[in-house]
Amino acid sequence: MNAPKISPIACSPLPVPSARRGACPSLDAPMATGDGLLVRLRPLDGSLTPRQFAAIAAAAKAFGNGLLEVTARGNLQVRGLDAETAPAFAQTILSMDMPLSSGVAIETPPLAGIDPGEILDPRPLADALRQAIEMHVPPLRLAPKLSITVDAGGRFHLGGIVADIRLSAERRADGAAMWRLSLAGNARTARPVALLAGEQVIDAVIALLRTLDALGPAARGRNLDGEAWRRHFAFPPAGDEDIEAPAPLPVGIHAFDPGQPILGVGLSFCQIEAPVLTAFLAEMEKLGAGEIRLAPEHGFFLIGIAPETIGEALSLAAAHGLRTSATDPANAIALCAGARGCASAFFDTHALARTVIAEAPSLLDGSLTLHLSGCPKGCAHPAAAGLTLTAAPTGYGLVVNGSASGSPDAYIAAKDVTSAFRRLAALVDAGRRPGETAAASLERLGAGAIGQGLQRDWE
Ligand code: SF4
Repeated sequence: MNAPKISPIACSPLPVPSARRGACPSLDAPMATGDGLLVRLRPLDGSLTPRQFAAIAAAAKAFGNGLLEVTARGNLQVRGLDAETAPAFAQTILSMDMPLSSGVAIETPPLAGIDPGEILDPRPLADALRQAIEMHVPPLRLAPKLSITVDAGGRFHLGGIVADIRLSAERRADGAAMWRLSLAGNARTARPVALLAGEQVIDAVIALLRTLDALGPAARGRNLDGEAWRRHFAFPPAGDEDIEAPAPLPVGIHAFDPGQPILGVGLSFCQIEAPVLTAFLAEMEKLGAGEIRLAPEHGFFLIGIAPETIGEALSLAAAHGLRTSATDPANAIALCAGARGCASAFFDTHALARTVIAEAPSLLDGSLTLHLSGCPKGCAHPAAAGLTLTAAPTGYGLVVNGSASGSPDAYIAAKDVTSAFRRLAALVDAGRRPGETAAASLERLGAGAIGQGLQRDWE
């Protein structure tokens, strides 16, 4: 099949970017946050050895504040660097000879090439795409946060991850693998524009990127005219598409191959202190772990542990404070460094998280995210969350289905925050139908009723 002939297509107007919008912290361009400079690292395919991970942790302790994070997209972040230490940190990382991705984020599922549920290994296509973008002449000027997912399915597929450009493998009736190309969204919301054979994909994506380049360095997938591209690729109007069930959290033992189980762990509250991580990795190496794969939802996988010691590895993970169960209420909380590590924070996010787990566990059934944000910047969860508690002039602001910078639906005095969460859980529980999740109950109640219910309590 010949590659389709591509030409740039008219697009919708661009938003005007602010100075910080679109910033993407990298080794050579750390981002200023409330707790110093932040660097985001993207090991190639999310893969690194336990020793490399431990060396990064040591550098985070030596040059930063010793806190490491795995983000919701599975990137590694080191916090608390400053203008003097950031260059030394960068030099240390670069001297490790660890392949790092730079430029456009091209993401594959965390167990790409291992997960037997995949239609094919998506990494060769991702590599070819990286090369085509790097070698493009003239260089493409693209938004720093632009992302492309190359997803061939499997248990830990990327269907829930929002991307500017999505490539999702599909198996045709004759057995051939095809790539569905869609724009701006996750598997549910992105606009499909083409179904391509493998050899057509690079040309098609480069054509989209050239159009974004022509639009300017802030252009994102949402600025592409999906309808025009759909016509261009002669792709029929989208019908009902099979949407995969959401990918599970990475936590627990995954026995794809009983002879080679994989342990998944999550960082408690998205963060871990460097010495704890280093100690845990040393134990895992002793048990045979040879590869780490960073994973979405603030976790990572350990590969290479023998079946007879995988139970011990799981216990050790729990003993080091890592999340190992899909029912851990901490899975549902996103929080930033808070007053423990950030000068901008108005409260101790970690202490409040422990309070909510103790006082309002029914809110944390995994159906919604509770975001505790030390200030309205919302570093830990820039997108909307089911519930967000942020700082307000005289205490806290509670935002329902919004972000930390959103307008609060209720204000809570600092001294009342524990009882407010008890009251909120009672409201959500009272409105719950049999078998219903906290998120569904919250949605039916609506932000107005939640706000009024809480507000009335404090007036
Ligand atoms: S959101 Fe949290 S980490 Fe970010 S600046 Fe505010 S307090 Fe600091």
